[in-house]
Amino acid sequence: MSVRPGRRKAVGRLRAAIGALVVALAAGAAVALPAAEAEAAGAKGGKVVYLTFDDGPSPAYTPKVLATLDRYGVRATFFEIGQNVAAHPSVTAQVARRGHSVQNHSWSHPDLRKLSAAALSAQVTDTDKAIRAQTGRTPSCLRPPYGAVNSTVRSKAAALGKQVVLWSVDPADWSRPGTAAIRSRVLNNVRPGSVILLHDGGGDRSQTVAALPAIISTLKARGYGFATLCG
Ligand SMILES: [Zn+2]
Repeated sequence: MSVRPGRRKAVGRLRAAIGALVVALAAGAAVALPAAEAEAAGAKGGKVVYLTFDDGPSPAYTPKVLATLDRYGVRATFFEIGQNVAAHPSVTAQVARRGHSVQNHSWSHPDLRKLSAAALSAQVTDTDKAIRAQTGRTPSCLRPPYGAVNSTVRSKAAALGKQVVLWSVDPADWSRPGTAAIRSRVLNNVRPGSVILLHDGGGDRSQTVAALPAIISTLKARGYGFATLCG
């Protein structure tokens, strides 16, 4: 979706509305996405999925993911690790410049349940600072490493102004099960509103990079549109 400057605010509101929808759906509420918003999101009949990429930025794999997303005109959400942002700031800047959402995945990927309040706060705020320096925006969402959450992590995240975002489709691409397995695990489990977990960092992501074109083209052929999370 190409966005003229005058439309940026409208698109921002749309993304906020979609984010609220995902939260509502996760809570089990029945929500109808207004037709105009569905159309603007590039979806047919409200069929939207959310591609998410964790553990970057990686100078080896993130640019390849970005090139594929550009080729298909698709936007995604990147949950980045603060220390990787500090090591490869220009890659994070590139992700944001291409219109993707850059969000918080902690500074060094610990299990947040095992941290003191002060340590958890530092993991989140240091990462916010590193991302903001490259994107000009403060992340509104936190994806806890390993999806490890409890009521303490949730309340501390809320106190830091963060919405906790997990996922609903996990092909375990990080374990390198093969390109075909990554592709089929996503395509066999996806449904409208799915949040798909993939990885652009944290190891050799060549299988994920190789699986991505078929995942996107097949979802498009099924009538899905793609949207970002967390504005
Ligand atoms: Zn991770």
